[in-house]
Amino acid sequence: MEQTQQILSSKSEALINKEDNYGAHNYHPLPVVLERGEGVFVWDVDGKKYYDFLSAYSAVNQGHCHPKIVGAMVQQAQKLTLTSRAFYNDQLGVYEEYVTKYFGFDKILPMNTGAEAVETALKLCRKWAYEVKGIAENQAQIIVCENNFHGRTTTIISFSNDETARKSFGPFTDGFIKIEYDNLDALEKALESSNNIAGFLVEPIQGEAGVYVPSEGYLAKAKALCEKHNVLFIADEVQTGIARTGKLLAVQHENVQPDILILGKALSGGVYPVSGVLANNAIMNVIKPGQHGSTFGGNPVAAAVAIAALVVVKEEKLAENAERLGVVLRDGLNAIASRNPLISLVRGKGLLNAIVIDCDEESDLAWEICLKFRDYGLLAKPTHGNKIRLAPPLVITEDQIQDCLSIIEKALNDFK
Ligand code: PMP
Repeated sequence: MEQTQQILSSKSEALINKEDNYGAHNYHPLPVVLERGEGVFVWDVDGKKYYDFLSAYSAVNQGHCHPKIVGAMVQQAQKLTLTSRAFYNDQLGVYEEYVTKYFGFDKILPMNTGAEAVETALKLCRKWAYEVKGIAENQAQIIVCENNFHGRTTTIISFSNDETARKSFGPFTDGFIKIEYDNLDALEKALESSNNIAGFLVEPIQGEAGVYVPSEGYLAKAKALCEKHNVLFIADEVQTGIARTGKLLAVQHENVQPDILILGKALSGGVYPVSGVLANNAIMNVIKPGQHGSTFGGNPVAAAVAIAALVVVKEEKLAENAERLGVVLRDGLNAIASRNPLISLVRGKGLLNAIVIDCDEESDLAWEICLKFRDYGLLAKPTHGNKIRLAPPLVITEDQIQDCLSIIEKALNDFK
């Protein structure tokens, strides 16, 4: 195997050393130091330009520093940034009306990050179970899936499979039943196992699990099973939502309207932390003042930014672009796979895709390939030792996809 070529500049090295010396080592970043972004491109501190094929884990769907979203942020930041929810502000209600109509729900509970929104959804689901469904206090169970990723709070990692994320962080939160993903029999069995089931929390595509796309019909049938058992279907669309998979929401591929919808990441186009939980009144109205909140959740900058981010998705037809160019990308990757046996599988939907490398899951080959991509001007990150997620901003063009396919093939050929 050829060694990676790129030598880090002294400027990059010094900045990496600062992060290493003064920051907790809770991430393992690819060695590249970025200072600027525009559309599908980012530039490092030495001026080298790269295609971004991670999009900050699908937060930058609208492209880096989208002028309309940044403009909305700057304009609002010059007027009023934060009042907390102790008072009303002139932006929040306007945003709440816009976002609820956009996704077809009665109400939103605004938060900041994906994990916070997942926590919010879990609390909401439990409260609904006690107050509406009539489950006895402290008995509510929520069904979750193996290999899930919903964030990193203590409650969320309580039901993670990822031992690295869990080990030595207990004790954990009770009340979760874990079943196999993409297995309707397992779901039906779990739903029938107890009268205390409150919800089913699911990613429409498991992103961090290596872009695992469930069988066609899974989500629609899972929703029907939940309805039959009066159990809330909770869709975590933090990564799959906001046009990423070729529809506004990934559940829309199967015409599913979740009972609780969790959004984050691209809700702000990556410009500002904005997340939220959407539900209808029969569910959301169980939450009363004092029961949940966040100082920054629903602040006027977040509200202005999120409206702009959602307007851009519609104006620029990003779902349609993701759908169309996802096919171009997968066709191109499959063509590369036919010439290079290193790719054993190409999978994904819209512009949320992954290639599986023909090696062990514990291998460092995917990392080495990502270093090579970097050398040739494309940034991607492995989800596992043998899987690389490929998820560019949705503003990418067909010519740019073709250019990226050439880069990917050239890099992979170095490992033949
Ligand atoms: N849910 C899903 C499906 C995610 O992919 C992520 C982030 N990768 C989260 C929740 C957590 O979001 P955040 O990092 O903003 O807390």
